[in-house]
Amino acid sequence: MSLPKMLAQRHGSPLYVYDLDRVLAARRDLSDALPPGCDVYYALKANPHPDLARELRLGGCKAEISSLGELASALTAGFDAGDVLYTGPGKTPSELDSAFALGVRRFSAESPTDLQHIGAAALRCGTVASCLLRINSETSAANTGIRMTGRPSQFGIDSETIAGLAAELRAVPGTTIEGLHLFSQSNAESEDALIGELSHAVELAAHLEKELDVTLGLLDIGGGFAAPYGRHGSRCLYPRLRPALESVLDEWFPRWCEGTPRLAVEAGRYLVGDSGTLVTTVSNMKTSRGKTFVVLDAGINTFGGMSGLGRTLPVSVEIDGDGPRKAFLAGPLCTPGDILGREVPIPDLRPGDLVEIPNAGAYGVTASPLMFLGRPAPTEVVVRGGEVVSVSRIEHVRRCAG
Ligand SMILES: *Cc1c(COP(=O)(O)O)cnc(C)c1O
Repeated sequence: MSLPKMLAQRHGSPLYVYDLDRVLAARRDLSDALPPGCDVYYALKANPHPDLARELRLGGCKAEISSLGELASALTAGFDAGDVLYTGPGKTPSELDSAFALGVRRFSAESPTDLQHIGAAALRCGTVASCLLRINSETSAANTGIRMTGRPSQFGIDSETIAGLAAELRAVPGTTIEGLHLFSQSNAESEDALIGELSHAVELAAHLEKELDVTLGLLDIGGGFAAPYGRHGSRCLYPRLRPALESVLDEWFPRWCEGTPRLAVEAGRYLVGDSGTLVTTVSNMKTSRGKTFVVLDAGINTFGGMSGLGRTLPVSVEIDGDGPRKAFLAGPLCTPGDILGREVPIPDLRPGDLVEIPNAGAYGVTASPLMFLGRPAPTEVVVRGGEVVSVSRIEHVRRCAG
């Protein structure tokens, strides 16, 4: 029996098991695919579990957060507040005050007014914020063959407006423009698509540096590093990315090797996705109009299908074990939407059996409607080298707030 299933027998089901050895392997693979000296910001959105975040900190990552809750997870994981990048379109004055009080100084500004809010909070705290202007690019990678016009978005400042805004942006009290932040895609479909987008980001940044008339200290070109989600398969390796990025950097930023600018990327799912396995128990099996339904004790309340970047995808998982039969995998919730997979190949199963959903380390618990239908959150076990590191479970408690 697999370790995750043995742990589920001991700690109950549904159960997430995260393997820190795999987190470290992903971190190494990503480093190998990037130019030397490139910072990697771990997007805690993918999985804010402090043990995973700590592993990535020890592996040299910095932290990308977009709420005080994620900031708390990052600090629990031992991140220095100086290694945190605070992003997101809805930073409120009181959130900003708390972030400054906790030592955060680097922010991604999503609009001119967001930059003003950051600056005002910096001044209230008696300090200056290092800001990355987030850019909503008008164009996308040339190698897709389509020069796409950027869509309207709450994220980023429209690239075509930067020239006209430059003087205003440079003059916001309490801020200095440290660099640029471009994040245009999640889960890139291929290495070519990734290379195309990230190269485009470098080229666009070089143009914007001139328009802004600032020297970029930090250039965050975003990410898009892909990982399978709830299905079999392995993380991509990107053997051609590093040389491609180095050559586009040489072309547009001849001093990048000396750290002008420092290069950074962001990754969530790539770093933690394949570290996680979700173990769930078959509660019931039934046939309806010729279709087999396997009812599991984990549904969308446990593995919600929010794989990131604003889009809710219908979940479509696979389970371990193969067989000639196919079934619908349903969760326990009283909503027809609680389906984890349709016509999924299944082994010979009966109620009480444990099954594993692979590649469940990113956008699992954190991206699930945990409260819906009032079931407990799943237990989360962290292992390293086959040994248990921690066992925990999130609890929600109603308290008087009046
Ligand atoms: C969601 C997000 C990420 C992480 O995306 P992954 O697909 O998990 O790598 C990184 N940066 C920003 C700004 C994001 O919104």
